[in-house]
Parts: sequence; C-alpha cells; structure tokens
Amino acid sequence: MLELTTPVQYVKGIGPKLAEILATKGIATVGDLLHYLPFRYEDRLNPRGIAELRAGEMATVIGEVRNSGLFRTHRMPIFQLIVGQGRSKLRCLWFNATYLQNQFRPGQLIALYGKVEPDSRNGELQIIQPQFEMLGDSGSDAADDKASASLEVGRIVPIYESAGQGKVTARWFRRVIRTALDDLTPELAETIPAAVRERLALVSPREALWKVHWPEPGESFDALQSARTPAHIRLIFEELFFTELGLELKRRQQKAQTGTAFRIADRARQAIKKILPFHPTATQKKVLKEIADDMQKPHPMRRLLQGDVGSGKTIIGFQAAIIAIENGYQAALMAPTEILAQQHYFSARRILENVGYRIVLLTGSLEPDRKREIRRHIAQGNAQLVIGTHALLEEKVEFAKLGLVIVDEQHRFGVLQRLKLMKKSGDGRVTVAPPSPAAVPSARSGQVVAASRRHQEQDSASPRSGQALANAGETPALPEPDVLVMTATPIPRTLALTLYGDLDLSLLDELPPGRTPIVTRRITDDRSPEVWDFVRKQVAKGHQVYVVYPVIAENEESELKAAIKMYRELSGKVFADLKVGLLHGRLDSDLKDQVMRMFQKGDLQILVATTVIEVGVDVPNATVMVIEHAERFGLAQLHQLRGRIGRGAAKSYCILMTGGKVTEDGERRLDAMVRTNDGFQIAELDLELRGPGEFFGTRQAGMPDFRVANLIRDRQLLELARREAAAVMAGPNAEITQVEISRALVALRTRWQHTYGLVEAG
Ligand code: ADP
Ligand code: MG
Repeated sequence: MLELTTPVQYVKGIGPKLAEILATKGIATVGDLLHYLPFRYEDRLNPRGIAELRAGEMATVIGEVRNSGLFRTHRMPIFQLIVGQGRSKLRCLWFNATYLQNQFRPGQLIALYGKVEPDSRNGELQIIQPQFEMLGDSGSDAADDKASASLEVGRIVPIYESAGQGKVTARWFRRVIRTALDDLTPELAETIPAAVRERLALVSPREALWKVHWPEPGESFDALQSARTPAHIRLIFEELFFTELGLELKRRQQKAQTGTAFRIADRARQAIKKILPFHPTATQKKVLKEIADDMQKPHPMRRLLQGDVGSGKTIIGFQAAIIAIENGYQAALMAPTEILAQQHYFSARRILENVGYRIVLLTGSLEPDRKREIRRHIAQGNAQLVIGTHALLEEKVEFAKLGLVIVDEQHRFGVLQRLKLMKKSGDGRVTVAPPSPAAVPSARSGQVVAASRRHQEQDSASPRSGQALANAGETPALPEPDVLVMTATPIPRTLALTLYGDLDLSLLDELPPGRTPIVTRRITDDRSPEVWDFVRKQVAKGHQVYVVYPVIAENEESELKAAIKMYRELSGKVFADLKVGLLHGRLDSDLKDQVMRMFQKGDLQILVATTVIEVGVDVPNATVMVIEHAERFGLAQLHQLRGRIGRGAAKSYCILMTGGKVTEDGERRLDAMVRTNDGFQIAELDLELRGPGEFFGTRQAGMPDFRVANLIRDRQLLELARREAAAVMAGPNAEITQVEISRALVALRTRWQHTYGLVEAG
C-alpha cells in the first residue's frame, strides 16, 4: 500500500531514472505525484464528429490516420495529416515539422485537440498544429493495448504536462497516476476539522484525488477546465488552508515575542512635528498613528506600509525613527540601491538636522577603513540613525541598541530575506544580518529543534495560549527590534494579506496635495526630434528631464540604443548647449553620487540614465521622463520610472518611446501605462500578465510554492482559507475540538513542509 509520503519510485513503473525526471517537476513522493494535476481535460467520451465541427471552436477529435506527408512551400516545409471518420475527413497541418515525417501509419487511431479553422482557399475546416496522442492501432486486440486504451478513450481524459523534454508523456502520467491511485492506502487521514469541511462542503481526500484525475462521466466540462469541481476545490482549499494556518501560527508567535515598548514623550512629539517640511496629509497622520501605536506595545512591530510611488512614505519612516531614537535606541534604514541609500542619507541629514541626531551612511562601496570606523560607531551606539544598502544585510553589522529596522522598497528584498533580518549575536547584541552561509545549518537545526518541541507542547497544551506556544523551546527572549517595511509595489489586498500574512498592513492611498496627474504618451522613436523639442521647452521653463535606456553599453544588445552612446549624442549634438549628465550602474559610487547630487541641485538639466534611478529617487523639479525602448521594460518598472516625476506642483510628462517590434504583452503594458496612473490597477494587470511566480520573484523571494493553488484564479478560496485558519487557531470551541486542532498542526508540520519552510524562516 502506498502512503502519500512514500517516495515516488515505489510506485509500479517508476524506477530511479524516472524518479529523477519527476524530481525536476518537484515530484518526490506519492503525494506530490497525485497533486500533479491535469492542466486540461479532453472529452473523449463524446468526441466530436468531423462533420459537425464549427470554425473557431476548440475541439477534440478521434479518428483514423488516412495518409500523411511533407510538402515544401517556398517559405517552409509543412507536414500534413489527413484523419478520417467513416466518410468525413479532416486536414491537420504542422509548420516546419519535418520531425513528424514517418511517424504515422494509415489505420492508427489518433486523438487530436486544437482550434478548428477554415482553410482560406476552399473554406474546408482544418486544425493547425493540433496536440495529438496516438491511441494504438484500431482493431488491435492485444490485451495490454486494450487496458491502456481504456484510459485513453471513452471517457473524460486528463492531459498532463509532459516532463524530461518529452521523455515522460501525458500518457505515461495517466498510467502511473492510475496505478498510484489503485495502490493508495484506503485510510487517508482527514486533517481539516469537520466544521470547516461541512461549511465548505468539502469532499474526502480520497474522493478528491480520484476524481480530479478521473472525472466521472457527468462532470461539468467547464468546471473541470476552470478547476472548480468539488475535487479541485477540496485540494486547492486544503493547500491554501494549511498555508494560512502556518502564517497565522507565525503571527501568533511574533505577537508573543518580547519587544520594546517605546514611550512617546513630549520631546519626541515635538521632534516629529519640528522636522516636517510640509503639512502631512490625513492619511500620513493615520499611518503614523498606526505605527506609533505599534511601537508603544511591548511586542515587536511587524508592519507593512504600502503606498504608491510618490505617496510620501519616506517622511513616515523618519518619524518612526525619531520615536526610537528619542527612546535612546538606534534605528536602521535599508534601501535596495546605493543611490537611494545616499539620497535617504542626504534628506535625513537635511530633515533631521534641526533635531541634531548622529546619522551615518554604510554602503558596500565604502573604503574598508571608513567602513570599519562606521561599524565601530554603530557598535558603540554613537550612530543613532544608520542608513545603508544590502551591505547592512550582507555583512555582519552589530548594533549597540537597535530598536527599529525600516526596510524601504521591500519588494526588492524578498520575503525570506526580510524574515531573516534579525539574529541575535551571542553577547546579547542585536545584529542585522542573515546567518552567514556557514552558520546556516546550525541555525536551521536550532529552529527544527525548537519547532518540534513546540509541536509536542502543542498536543497537550491549548493553542489558545499563544505565549506558551512561542516561548517553549526558546531562550528567554531579548527584545526584538520593531520592523517597518515600506513598499511601493501595491499588490492586491488579499494577496498582500497572504504573502505578508505575518505583517500588519498600513495603506497610504492618497497622494500629497497639489499634484497634477502625469500625462503619459506613446510615440515611435522615429519621431524623437519632436520629443527632444519638447524636452528643450520644458528645460527652458526651468524644469529637469530624465532620459532612460534599457542598456548601458551598445554591445550588449546591438539593436538597442545604449545609455552611453545616447549620452554622447544628446550631450554632444542635440543638447550641446544644455547641461547633460550620465548615470548608470557601472560608474563608481563617488561619481554616481556626484552626478545624482548635481541633478538634485539643478546643476544638470538632463539626466541620461539606466534603471539605476528606478526606485525611490526624488527630484521634485524633474517633470519629464523619456523612456526609450519602453517596450523592453516590465510594467512595474515603467510605473516606478514614471514615479520619478510628478513629485512637485508642475505638470509632468512621461513619454514612452518604442523602437522596433512590440509584442502583444508589450502592447498591453504600454496601453496600461497610458490608460492609468493608479499603481494598484497596474499591479493587478502586471500580476495577470506575468503570473504569480515571476510577479513575486522566485521561490527564494519567499513565495510559497503551490502545487495546486493559483493565487490569481483562487483568490476567493484564499480569502475563505484565511478566515477558516484564523478561526481554527482561535479554538477550541463548540465547533472545533482540541484533537482536531492538534491534528491540523501535526499535518502542517509533516505534510506541508514546503509551505512551513516559509513559516519557520527567521
Ligand atoms: P515615496 O512614497 O515614493 O517614497 P517620497 O517619500 O519620496 O515618496 O515623497 C514624494 C515627494 O512628496 C517628496 O518630494 C516629498 O517631500 C513629498 N511629500 C511627501 N509628503 C508630502 C506632504 N504631505 N505634502 C507635500 N509634499 C509631500
Ligand atoms: Mg520612497
């Protein structure tokens, strides 16, 4: 009997070699295999008659190979296959498919799937490049063929993505998954509490696994294709439920940790007011209050501040820093780029000058001596506000008394990295650093011990006592610093709640007053003279301009205009009479710094740059953003770049120049940019275009690796799962027993390791 945890090579028909191929698909156990769901289904119970096909529909056709052959046109070889049913015939074509030659024999039974289209010459119907599967010779009576044929025809058939470059086919998956289901233990433990199951009418795990692969004849085809059958819903909900359960657990643990209860005395209050160069908006005040309330609590703050580009997050970060500093603690502010760290450093010095704090800048490119000196200041507690780049993360920095960590533009860091921010060093100091590679194993095993001990505790103690839960197996805690994470990539709220489910959320959904919406235009680059004229006029009005290129030097991608070459052209010819600067990632950091400061002071009128200026840069006098080869940039990137302008009162313009062919997705990105300035809408579309994997970064970025759920398609189930998980963790009660809760938590730690990995980090 197979268990869900049995390694996959114990399934009949899978040896070590195939197991290796499966591993590349993330399939290690029988459970993984059974959660490898069909990406679509074919209705081979009621396949279509060729005579009844309609142009434009997607159809499954089962027929007999009549003849096939390759013919060459002047453009390319085309492979043609004629399939018949009685007297009807259907033509199928594949372009450039010499490899199909000699693959078919007349009389073979074949299943085809594709879009039915009219042949432009004679109006007859055909399918171009259909997917196909050989069903064995018609009329063959070999027993083996019959058995497998029963999985291929006369039913709704699951279609799987193949693996190992086609070595492992859909057909193979069908047979092996069938075998695994046949040999699966009849006792699959139910791990979701009964009340939840009843509320959502969830089918049993066994039924779900069978029917998701082998739907019953009456099953709705639409429901199958959109993963909305009861079987799908059970499996998807289960996965989301355990993810949310893990996050809920994590939140409870964090809430129970010891933090610093900052006091907000008059001095701090006054300092906060004193630094403000403008009246804060009502929303900024509300958000600051949320942060201040958190900071006063004896538990560490874990808050995410979401606000579109230009919404004024920086000042809120500084105000939070004041609270920590006025309480005698140090604050750290981390930025994703050196340019942004430098900018924060200068504005912090400017803004916080009249309250007289000691502020230091620590970046990777500093001279070793200088770095050492700054580290010493930090370790001795002289430095009150420490601003830096990843260098703060990547190298070990010791703080004398760290009270607050602010992470700016969080989306650049990734979730796991954020969770690893704080580790305590042996002498009780707090260091901001991930464990060094060498330290990882021991840190990990430490966590595992703590986790399993907590887990034993869990079976006997009530989970209501979050305190006991978090403290068991941990040394008496030193106060954890507060953490404020700021991000300009607004992601849909339900998703934010899940991915950052361990954080409390503040929204800055209002722009500072007096902004005029940015005008965005698309133009092809053969019209660049008009663009340069426009730029010149804006400069004449006293404004400044960014011109952004996708690459630095020409040889990178020859047909693309490169920043360096265009800088020569613009500064030498087009704008020879104006002051033009160049900024890109390969300049050394002093030079970068110098250029950026000149632009900030207005000593440069035009800044030619790469995406180094993408995040955070704040020069309110800049009113034009010209982006060349805009079709090359991602949507989030374009929106960030556009966010560099429209920061002052003057009207701003974003000009998206395209040079060359624009793909379909490219069109949609550019359209979206012209249509809206709203970061939330842009994020929704970006998520749709790129899919969750790429949108949130790789798995390293902390994205749970879902087997069956899809964050876009399954948003509603996600919301339900979140609610149910919270209810379960708040139990036991009349509905949910202690035994059920323990069982769910055990399942979380054993079967849902991949999700739990996220939960345990940090
Ligand atoms: P982001 O949220 O993108 O980090 P910033 O903090 O850089 O935005 O702020 C964008 C610009 O708006 C800055 O020039 C900042 O000084 C200005 N700003 C922020 N809040 C206000 C306000 N309440 N009134 C006027 N200007 C403001
Ligand atoms: Mg910012």
